[in-house]
Amino acid sequence: MADRDGWIWYDGEMRPWRDCTTHVLTYTLHYGVGCFEGVRAYQTPKGTAIFRLDEHTKRLFNSAKILGMKMPFSPEQVSEAQLEVLRRNNLKEAYLRPMVFYGAEGMGLRADNLKTHVIVAAWTWGSYLGADNMERGIRVKTSSFTRGHPNSNMHRAKANGQYINSMLALNEVLREGYDEAITLDTNGFVAEGSAENIFIVSRGELHTPDLSACLDGITRRTVIQLAQDMGLKVNERRISRDEMYCCDEAFFTGTAAEVTPIREMDNRVIGIGSRGPITTQLQANYLALVKGQSEKYPEWLSHT
Ligand code: PMP
Repeated sequence: MADRDGWIWYDGEMRPWRDCTTHVLTYTLHYGVGCFEGVRAYQTPKGTAIFRLDEHTKRLFNSAKILGMKMPFSPEQVSEAQLEVLRRNNLKEAYLRPMVFYGAEGMGLRADNLKTHVIVAAWTWGSYLGADNMERGIRVKTSSFTRGHPNSNMHRAKANGQYINSMLALNEVLREGYDEAITLDTNGFVAEGSAENIFIVSRGELHTPDLSACLDGITRRTVIQLAQDMGLKVNERRISRDEMYCCDEAFFTGTAAEVTPIREMDNRVIGIGSRGPITTQLQANYLALVKGQSEKYPEWLSHT
């Protein structure tokens, strides 16, 4: 990733991709205190557009606030930086990675002279969980690693260090040949995937875990809106693992994962064993929306 042409927005200016290195005593590298976003831009009939840019930027600022990091730029500047990165790199479709981190100004947990740095990088990235799996669905397994207690893991923050838990869960199930992990909360209820929110369909209604142990996903919010627009009832509540085994359909949502069907969980077939009818409809509506092929919510697209 590091050795390539291109431009990265770094603390307010465009720098050549290869020059965007950091010192080994970077505070965030040692302690994980930092936050980031995963954002996507799609090609639309009216040109390239970032989907729900302002909401991603707002979540980034909220993450920084939760971590107590002082942002040296305004939300408008960080949103504009994301558009500028796309233009400068001539990207038509891309995954964008804004990240906020402390530099190497001090070491030790108590360092009090730290500077907050902000970068925005972007690159072309296809289907996160595999193009075939968008129709076929993926195989998931419940991880033995529990999602953190809400008073130790601040789930509203998309914080760098939080991803240790995600990586433990993901690597555990990848080694066993599954595609993705399901994490449970400290009470044993379904929380989320390693980087996705979860939905199930039962008796024609949508159900998704409440936000007590998962990220407030922007795709989750979008899918809830799309489902309600389709006349579906959406329930945000606790979901047990065995309820998920017996549901009619299940899928993940995420900026990277978009809407990815789940065909099997813990070696039990879910529903028809491939993408179910409601998942199919929601996935199609989601992709139409982000690609500007729908009349709805034009305010969710920020054109470059
Ligand atoms: N949960 C976690 C832990 C994630 O990392 C992500 C990806 N950002 C999501 C859920 C989905 O969030 P979003 O739809 O905003 O990408």
